[in-house]
Amino acid sequence: MNDDSYGMGTKCVHSGIKDDPTGAVVTPIYQTSTFKFRDTEHGARLFKGEEQGYIYTRMRNPTIEAMEDAIANLEGGAKAIGCASGMAAINLLFSSTLTAGDHIICSEAVYGPTISILQTLFAKYGVEVSIIDTSDVSLVKSAIRNNTKLIFIETPGNPSLIISDIQAISEIASSINAKLAVDNTFMSPILQQPFKFGADYVIHSLTKFLNGHADVIGGVVVLKKESEYIHFRKMSNLIGGVIDPFNAFLVHRGIKTLHIRMQRHCENAEKISTYLKNNPKVIWVHYPGDKNHPQYEIARKQMTGFGGMIAFELKGGLEAGKKLMDNVKVWQLAVSLGGVESLIQHPATMTHASVPKELREKAKITDGLVRLSVGIEDADDLINGLESGFRHIT
Ligand SMILES: *Cc1c(COP(=O)(O)O)cnc(C)c1O
Repeated sequence: MNDDSYGMGTKCVHSGIKDDPTGAVVTPIYQTSTFKFRDTEHGARLFKGEEQGYIYTRMRNPTIEAMEDAIANLEGGAKAIGCASGMAAINLLFSSTLTAGDHIICSEAVYGPTISILQTLFAKYGVEVSIIDTSDVSLVKSAIRNNTKLIFIETPGNPSLIISDIQAISEIASSINAKLAVDNTFMSPILQQPFKFGADYVIHSLTKFLNGHADVIGGVVVLKKESEYIHFRKMSNLIGGVIDPFNAFLVHRGIKTLHIRMQRHCENAEKISTYLKNNPKVIWVHYPGDKNHPQYEIARKQMTGFGGMIAFELKGGLEAGKKLMDNVKVWQLAVSLGGVESLIQHPATMTHASVPKELREKAKITDGLVRLSVGIEDADDLINGLESGFRHIT
């Protein structure tokens, strides 16, 4: 399935599946911590890397590898490394690319803990951190220092759905020999493939769209270049935050329907954004498919669909938001996103509570902001479910 002539649907169904000695049509769950050597010579050759094979699941496992291959193939990357969570993937990326004295530029509209891990852990390790609005390319240019090693963007950004121009930023990065990493969690490889626009690394929280069923925590780092694989794999083995075989199996299973799930997420989100735009109790709606979105043209250039995420600001701020969130039907009040079920949440007190208030305000995470993860239920039920909540706002 590493043939580019196949469409994304075919790739989702078939990518990564290994030929199994039993003839199993899916890669089974190799739920084992360790693997037997044929003899001492064999064990020694595996450890020296003179022969390929399995040693210990923290290093390599067939079920995990099958999932990793599937994701690398869908992203158009060379290799992928499965991690215990999206944050473990972000930690692996930063640990593998940054050293004391290096500088990183990171989007301000990102998953809250991404900023926190930089400002706490990596700052403590001597990494210089700039958190800026990467939707403005000129701000990225002016943030460059002579020790800038990595630019990390999330696009569309969390939770305001601001969009950064992957290609323009990758050109800036390569002009100074820095690398570009993209958190592609909100889009999945179905809707956006950052390598095509010059990114060097892609990370995902597998917890979200890739698994898609709200029953796994996982993450992945995808590498564009094969040559960086051994370094990243060694770092993963040292940090130890690997995904386990069962969760890798579930993610791989989820990926088989990723293309049709994404299509439905997009269709539903389009309808719900229209409903919200016409709702007099809503001040504004942030949705990348909206022609008035400030970066609509960039969205059209680098995304093949607008995704399932919507953010909106209510008249009446937090009080109105509470009434809405406590009275909706069908929608569940929960953080996370990208599952088949629709979720509603309040970034300022939930996902982004760890981000300092002034940074929150700069990233437009106001107290009246509500974030939706639109699932794959029937759009009419979702709209009626929101309507039940809106009726309580007077
Ligand atoms: C959820 C999320 C993460 C973190 O993933 P976990 O699996 O929760 O550790 C990172 N980036 C984005 C955009 C996310 O939505």
